[in-house]
Amino acid sequence: MRYADYKMSHEEVIIKINSLRSEINFHNHRYYIEDDPEISDRDYDLMMRNLIRLESEYPELITADSPTQRVGAKPQTDFSEVAHRIPLLSLGNSFNDEEFESWYKKTISTLNLNDTELSCELKIDGLAVSLLYENGVFVQGATRGNGTTGEDITLNLKTINSIPLKLIGNYPRTLEVRGEVYFPKSHFIDFNNARKEKGLKEYANPRNTAAGSLRQLNASVTAERPLDIFIYGYGWSEGSHYAFENHFDSLIYLKSLGFKINKSNFLARNIAEAKDFYQRWVDERHNIDYECDGIVFKINDLQMQEILGSIGREPRWAIAYKFPADRTETQLLDIKVNVGRTGSINPYAILSPINLGGVTIKQATLHNEEYIKSKDLRIGDWVYVERAGEVIPQVIGSNISKRTGKEINFSMPEKCPSCLHATTKNPDEAALYCTNISCPAQMVRLIEHFISKAAMDIDGMGGKTGISLIENNLIKNISDIYNLKKEDLVELERMGDKSSDNLISAIEASKNRNLSNLIFGLGIKHVGSEIADILSNHFEHIDKLINASIEELEEIDLIGPQISKSIVDYFNIPENQFIISTMKKYGVNVRHIKNTTPENMGILENKRFVITGKLDNFSRSEITKIIKDLGGAITSKVSAQTDYLIVGIDPGSKLQQATQLEIPIINESDFLLLIKPVK
Ligand SMILES: [Zn+2]
Repeated sequence: MRYADYKMSHEEVIIKINSLRSEINFHNHRYYIEDDPEISDRDYDLMMRNLIRLESEYPELITADSPTQRVGAKPQTDFSEVAHRIPLLSLGNSFNDEEFESWYKKTISTLNLNDTELSCELKIDGLAVSLLYENGVFVQGATRGNGTTGEDITLNLKTINSIPLKLIGNYPRTLEVRGEVYFPKSHFIDFNNARKEKGLKEYANPRNTAAGSLRQLNASVTAERPLDIFIYGYGWSEGSHYAFENHFDSLIYLKSLGFKINKSNFLARNIAEAKDFYQRWVDERHNIDYECDGIVFKINDLQMQEILGSIGREPRWAIAYKFPADRTETQLLDIKVNVGRTGSINPYAILSPINLGGVTIKQATLHNEEYIKSKDLRIGDWVYVERAGEVIPQVIGSNISKRTGKEINFSMPEKCPSCLHATTKNPDEAALYCTNISCPAQMVRLIEHFISKAAMDIDGMGGKTGISLIENNLIKNISDIYNLKKEDLVELERMGDKSSDNLISAIEASKNRNLSNLIFGLGIKHVGSEIADILSNHFEHIDKLINASIEELEEIDLIGPQISKSIVDYFNIPENQFIISTMKKYGVNVRHIKNTTPENMGILENKRFVITGKLDNFSRSEITKIIKDLGGAITSKVSAQTDYLIVGIDPGSKLQQATQLEIPIINESDFLLLIKPVK
């Protein structure tokens, strides 16, 4: 602790830590389970920071259920086995009303009933897990495995914010619950694109992404993924607990302990209501943020469940009624290729147009040559098409029984379809590349990328405008954008006086983007926006990045050999260096702009700061300027109106005053977190 003048007693520390933990747990529950936060993300982050700082000073006070313990453990080398005390059963399936009704009739006749209540729950396409709590503290989490033995993935499950580390309410001494972990659909495409940019293998669908995320040996990787969970069942318990008569009540009880239960769960009084529920979700399932492949129906009465028992691994008291698959069959008319921004030659399928889940599908990506070979796809084949994560059309295989012998095997072109340059393949990559730096197809893609929002954000140059600029020889590389004149633009088709003016001013404005936007905009292979940020922060000037060696690059966190090589290769090409020096000449910013960016503008609006002690990173005038630039104010005295006290080395009496007034006390790194642009 650098501001060591005021020291809390050990008891005060314990009280402070406990109160921070329960406050954080409360807000965590509001945010991740109730979906109804009460405080801002920033205030939450600050509480967390305070707790981390206190715990780092008093490591003996760290407990397994502390909210700081979601991430941070060292990577594992293996997962150990966990035996399930009560097996995690798998469900029998029905695929139509007839099968579902026949299950129901058999069940009620076994029970000698005319009708019975059914708990209706969405069947989430994720990964079943078991969670074990001792005295309300999460102690072990495991995969379903083969039902009797799973893998210990406690550390990874701890990173999921909707899994409570500490239960609330009246919990039994030992409790085991079951749930389904899933990867939200809304994050799937962005997540895969980011992986692609980094040169990593893409996931096929959200379910595989959830599974892959839970099987990471390094829990900090899992922590970066937006996994979520729904708890669907009571496993077993020891010590006092409520006795339930039915399953639905047990879910309500689990909710009272702080678990996330699906709000769509419904209690049907008879089979007619159950079928209505199913019908409603056949369409409705497309509007929720997780993949759902059917409805699970459970006999609600627990005593009846017991009577029914199970056959093998399948309970007789529950059934999954699957939705009709979002899959269809159509003809693969042709396989074509396009050229990506980094020169990759990408095959795609031309399909006989077909409706799938309300969308007409005419094309689908085929990824690369290996994909086509592994699925044995031939031109003319009848193929099965699905939408991964209900979004991306995918050809998943061919119907061999419909082959006529006239189907044609596909092979990748030896020449780039755009510039006819010979294509080459890196031994460590699946994709084929055109390495011609002035390939027109790559140029079109590169310009689209360069002007995109996350790069230089030049409005009005996309689509046909970009293409016609290239076709009219006005742009041969990205630096030519800055040499465009209004006279050139008005000559173009569809470009009036007004839109030419607008484009010129958009280009002018883009000269002030941060270095990270420029680095990302260059479209260097494997350098996504995240890596561009890291490089911008680290090198602070484009020239330093240009001159960086592979060794220097590899020393930076998160930058591996593949990315380093790609960066060095890029700047070794004289044309690329020329492009950058030309942009410099036109006044494009090539420096890292610290702190104040369009994203955090006004972020400290109405916030009052007081500073005490000497700061490491800033002089007083520097920090004053930053706070003012971002909309905040600095005052000299601590009062009830002060929002934050920033504490440096050798603080004065202000620290004690702020502590007494319970004003948030932050250090320089907290401050930097506070002003970090929101992405
Ligand atoms: Zn080419």
